[in-house]
Amino acid sequence: MIDRDRLAVLLDEERRTFHDRNPRSRAAASSGEHLFGGVPMTWMAKAAGGFPLFFERAAGARVVDRDGHELVDFCLGDTGAMAGHSPAATVAAVVVRYGEAGGATTMMPTEDAALVAAELTRRFGVSKWSFSLTATDANRWAIRLARAVTGRSRILVNSWCYHGSVDESLIVTGDTGPRSRPGNVGAPCDVTLTSRVAEYNDLAQLERELSHGDVAAVLMEPALTNMGIVLPEPGYLEGVRRLATAAGALLINDETHTFSAGPGGCTQAWGLSPDIVTIGKAIAGGIPAGAYGLTAELAERIATRSELDLVDTGGVGGTLAGNALSLAAARATLCDVLTDAAFATMIERCTRYTTGIDSIIAEYDLPWSVVQLGARAEYRFANPAPRNGTESQRATDAELEDYLHLALVNRGVLLTPFHNMALMCPATTDADVDLHLDVMGAAVAALCG
Ligand code: PMP
Repeated sequence: MIDRDRLAVLLDEERRTFHDRNPRSRAAASSGEHLFGGVPMTWMAKAAGGFPLFFERAAGARVVDRDGHELVDFCLGDTGAMAGHSPAATVAAVVVRYGEAGGATTMMPTEDAALVAAELTRRFGVSKWSFSLTATDANRWAIRLARAVTGRSRILVNSWCYHGSVDESLIVTGDTGPRSRPGNVGAPCDVTLTSRVAEYNDLAQLERELSHGDVAAVLMEPALTNMGIVLPEPGYLEGVRRLATAAGALLINDETHTFSAGPGGCTQAWGLSPDIVTIGKAIAGGIPAGAYGLTAELAERIATRSELDLVDTGGVGGTLAGNALSLAAARATLCDVLTDAAFATMIERCTRYTTGIDSIIAEYDLPWSVVQLGARAEYRFANPAPRNGTESQRATDAELEDYLHLALVNRGVLLTPFHNMALMCPATTDADVDLHLDVMGAAVAALCG
C-alpha cells in the first residue's frame, strides 16, 4: 500500500526541515559531553529527527522548544502531564507547600496523604493506599507484597506489556516459547525463572500458564497501551479475574496509562475488581508521584504478617516516597484538575480526534486502524486493530512512524517518541485537535495522494 521510495524521499525532506528549523536544539544536543548518551536519560536520545528538541517552557496543552516554536502537545510527557502543563491549582499547591510552608521531604506525614488516598479509593475502589515516586516502584512494591502474601515466586504479564523497568515484566511469548524481551539490559537472571507470560485477550493461554500453581500475581494493564492500544474482547477481563482467583493468584491492574479511560481508569469505567491498583505519572500533575492501592482484605492479610519488615529495610519503600510536595501536588491535581468533569471534556475531544483519524484512514483506504481509550487514542499500521501485543508489535513501521512524527512536529504538533498516540488534557481544544488532523491529513496525502 505504501510506496516505500516515496516514503524515503518524504522522510528525508522532513529530516532536513527538522534540522534547519531547530538550530538551537541541535547545538544543545551536542553540549552534553558529560551526559551518558548526551541526554539526561538515555531514552531521550530516541528522536525521529536525529536529535531531541530541547524544552524551554510549557503551559496547558502547549510546549515551547529551545528555538521558540510553540507546539501543541499531544505527548503530554507520555501521560505525566495529562493534567496539562502546570495547571493553576497544582502550581498554587506547590508554591504553598514548597515555598510558603516550606519543605518537601521530612519523613513526617501530611494530611494531604489521607485526602489523596480517599480520592483514589473513590475512583479505583481498592481502599488502602501507599505512595511511591514512580509507577515503576508502585509495581515493584506491589509485586513484593503479592509474593509475600501468596508465598509464590512468579509474576504473570502480557506479552509486549510495559510496566516500567520491572525485571519480571520484560518477557514475551516468543515463537518457540517464553523468552526475554529483546534488548533487556542486564537481567538479574533468566526472566523465565521469575515470570510467566500470556498474550492479551487469550484466556486459554492464561489458564495454562496459571495452572503451574506458582503465580503470585497477574500484573496487567486492563487495556494494553504500550504497543498501540489493544482493547479487551468481550468477557476477557471477567475471565482474567475468574482464572486468577481460581488459581490463587492476585490481580494487579496497572492504571498508569489506562487512567485515560476516565476518572477511575478502566477499573471504574469497566467495573473491574482487582486486588491491587498501581498508578503513577499523571496523578500529581507532573510532580513525581506513584501509588498502589490494596483491597481492605488484602491489606489485612499483609498486616497480620508480623515478620514482614514494612517499616524499615524490608524492600518496600523509598525515602522520598509519600513526600509532602508530591502529595500536595496530587491532592490539587486530583481534586481540582483531573476531575470527573474534566475527563468528560477530554474524552469528547478525543472522540473528535479518533473520528478524524478514521476519516483519513477511510479516505485513503489505508490498512490502518485507530483505537480510543477515553482521552487517549492511537493509530496502528494494521487493520483490523491488533488483538494482542504480538500482533500489534508486528504492525510496527519505524520509517512510516518517523515520517509522520516529523511531518507533525515540523508543523507544530508534538507526539511521544514511542507512540502514535494522542492524549488530551483539560486544556486541549477542538482547534488543537483539528490542527493535528489537518497536518496528518496533508502528510498522508503527500504519501498516498
Ligand atoms: N506502567 C505503565 C503502564 C507504563 O506505561 C509505564 C511507563 N510508560 C510505567 C508503569 C512506568 O512509569 P514510570 O517510568 O514513570 O515509572
